[in-house]
Amino acid sequence: MLAKSKRDLSAAVRIAHEHALQTTIIGFAANSLVSDAGVDGLVILNRADRIHFMPDYLVEADSGTNLATLARRAAKQGFGGLEFLIGIPGTVGAAVFGNTGTRQQWISEVVERVELLGENGKSRWIEARRLTFSYRASELQGGNDVVLSAVLRGHAREHAEIEARMQDYLGLRKNQPGGSSGGSVFKNPPGDFAGRLIEACGLKGEQKGGAEISPMHANFIVNKKEATASDIRYLIELARAKVKERFSILLEEEIKYLGKWS
Ligand SMILES: Cc1cc2nc3c(=O)[nH]c(=O)nc-3n(C[C@H](O)[C@H](O)[C@H](O)COP(=O)(O)OP(=O)(O)OC[C@H]3O[C@@H](n4cnc5c(N)ncnc54)[C@H](O)[C@@H]3O)c2cc1C
Repeated sequence: MLAKSKRDLSAAVRIAHEHALQTTIIGFAANSLVSDAGVDGLVILNRADRIHFMPDYLVEADSGTNLATLARRAAKQGFGGLEFLIGIPGTVGAAVFGNTGTRQQWISEVVERVELLGENGKSRWIEARRLTFSYRASELQGGNDVVLSAVLRGHAREHAEIEARMQDYLGLRKNQPGGSSGGSVFKNPPGDFAGRLIEACGLKGEQKGGAEISPMHANFIVNKKEATASDIRYLIELARAKVKERFSILLEEEIKYLGKWS
């Protein structure tokens, strides 16, 4: 179902809970691989996207808010500090869930507090530091809480400087593969880069069905032509196995698997 507001989102989660249905929240699915076998239970497409600017450079954004829209709206207000969000495809809720960010900045550095909806349908605010963020992870990943909204902190900055910073961030994206992908497949292991390791195994350009390990960046798998989720999963397992064999490093996925996987 489509949730157009926090109220819709909360109601859907409550109904799913009452009927003992498993719930899956999707933002833009920009970091998700959905199984060919589908997803059991209720899938909620989150488009709750109210943005409310408050005094002292605080902004409350619903969890379905597009990160780029938030960055642009903040820029118009001379609200600095969110420029890094401009080129990341996704929503605020998933960004908090997975501590989305760039090499320069993560969302955990700007999020102050988070509104969560528990499985029981009750909402609560918690301080963000209680979510024990780490590289591409938060404590939310171990549970069933849904992010309803988040309050982010920025600071005063000249509009022209904000624009220039956003252009810099967008410029860095030009080195990323175009087309349909889920972004980085694996997290970078400590002190190294997943892309470098996969490339060193000679896997750039490797194909399965309609999927290909990008010849441009080996940590991206691109859907070239009607790839199935199984095609992509095959290449993920191949890359993991080859990197383990050659470097004794076990790569861990950044992308999330949704639905039924055997
Ligand atoms: C081209 C490209 C470039 C990318 N670059 C970056 C980058 O630079 N940095 C980076 O960190 N990521 C990057 N990504 C990955 C992706 O953009 C981020 O992970 C983003 O946060 C995903 O947002 P989404 O709304 O699409 O999440 P989805 O894929 O829809 O969901 C991701 C996970 O979050 C869960 N979730 C979603 N919403 C909620 C909610 N409200 N409450 C609880 N759980 C929720 C989902 O169930 C799922 O498990 C990139 C992806 C692509 C395709």
